Amino acid sequence: MHCPFCAHPETKVIDSRLVADGEQIRRRRECILCGERFTTFETAELVMPRVIKQDGKREPFDEDKLRSGIQRALEKRPVSIESIEAAITHIKQKLRATGEREVASRDVGEWVMDELRSLDEVAFVRFASVYRSFKDLEEFRAEIERISLKAASPAVVKAVESSTLASSETSETGTDDPCKKESS
Ligand SMILES: [Zn+2]
Repeated sequence: MHCPFCAHPETKVIDSRLVADGEQIRRRRECILCGERFTTFETAELVMPRVIKQDGKREPFDEDKLRSGIQRALEKRPVSIESIEAAITHIKQKLRATGEREVASRDVGEWVMDELRSLDEVAFVRFASVYRSFKDLEEFRAEIERISLKAASPAVVKAVESSTLASSETSETGTDDPCKKESS
């Protein structure tokens, strides 16, 4: 770090010791230019980065929200709670590993898709269709091909069709009333 007195970029460590039961390192530093001394404390950054939404708004990382999104995609799919929790742990590790204070929600979404892809193809497709909000079935099929998913799997094709149709239906009618959908 720069010297806080003269802003010179180089300082030397003249003393270093563990404090706070080893959870912190205290370093005594001396500026090689002006000779002033100062102390720094180093601790692990365990705070989750904030999430930057598509509209630019920032919000705290919400583990419950992440979990419910994953569970919704995995509804009635043969995936254990343990696998879901492991996936959430992986995503949290990736978030922390960025070392950033803020991470785009798009990146988090991609990590969720990575996890779902290895857990369950159908859940992956469900999540991707909602997340990327494809305009039509063709666009969605192209995406499936792009990520070289085994598109031959009938369950996946069925999930693609139902999810895409469901989303285009709601956008056309402009309503989220589930009763209206059934009557049409
Ligand atoms: Zn200095």
